[in-house]
Amino acid sequence: RIVYVNGAYLPEEEATISIFDRGFIFGDGIYEVSAVLGGKLVDCEAHLARLERSAGEIGLELPCSRAELVAIHQELISRNNLDEGSIYLQVSRGAADRDFPFPKGVKASLVLFTQARQFANTPLAKTGIKVVSTPDLRWARRDIKSVNLLAPVLAKQFAAENGAQEAWMIEDGVVTEGASSTAWIVKGKTLISRPLSHKVLPGITRTAVLAFLAESGFTFEEREFTLEEALDAEEAFITSATSLVMPVTTIDGHSIHNGAPGPATIRLREIYLDHARKGGVL
Ligand code: PLP
Repeated sequence: RIVYVNGAYLPEEEATISIFDRGFIFGDGIYEVSAVLGGKLVDCEAHLARLERSAGEIGLELPCSRAELVAIHQELISRNNLDEGSIYLQVSRGAADRDFPFPKGVKASLVLFTQARQFANTPLAKTGIKVVSTPDLRWARRDIKSVNLLAPVLAKQFAAENGAQEAWMIEDGVVTEGASSTAWIVKGKTLISRPLSHKVLPGITRTAVLAFLAESGFTFEEREFTLEEALDAEEAFITSATSLVMPVTTIDGHSIHNGAPGPATIRLREIYLDHARKGGVL
């Protein structure tokens, strides 16, 4: 694999980052993950807009422009002949001797790499995924896509140990979101997901689903929901750049409705895949 690190395209074995990098030492950095389908970037501009917002919120100056970042994505797709997969982008506050306040005159570190994976035709989309619930142990600014992912790592490990693919995190009696996805339930013709705030990451796929509401024939009720309500819902699903729209068929071992992916989720996944295959731009 050819990866990008601070201006250079290198074989992954030759790419290095300083041990003093603040991303490594403090988790002082931000990231994005965007999908590639049919060799095309999916909603890349929206991901980069969110990156710029995350950077602004932590006072980090990005080392290159939006256009340059798009060009690096394109170059990695081409150098790796990537047809289907994802691109991970991380920016940290650079390498400096360890001290908490921002270092002066240090350039941010930028790393990008591709991961080839088949997510459009994954068998999980036919069976649905299993979810387990777990307390939300994250910090208070989850709207910033920070590389501090210890709580989601522990939540996903808990899910994996229990034969599940995702964890829904619970706080104040309601579902906040998935460890790496937005959580949704369906009742009749209504999609339900909680409002954006500092408590959740504003999902790009969430925005896409809402942009296709009229086309899909559903209405949206933006509100919090409890785990009990989710267990009793007609459908549940998650959205994220790499799971797209993914049915959730069991939560904590209980089947949702009849335990099979429901019509709303199937339809929304089709609409989003169609958009993504066309190299969709939100
Ligand atoms: N919420 C969290 C905590 C996430 O980590 C992610 C994606 O990784 C999402 C939601 C979904 O965001 P997106 O649709 O932009 O991938």
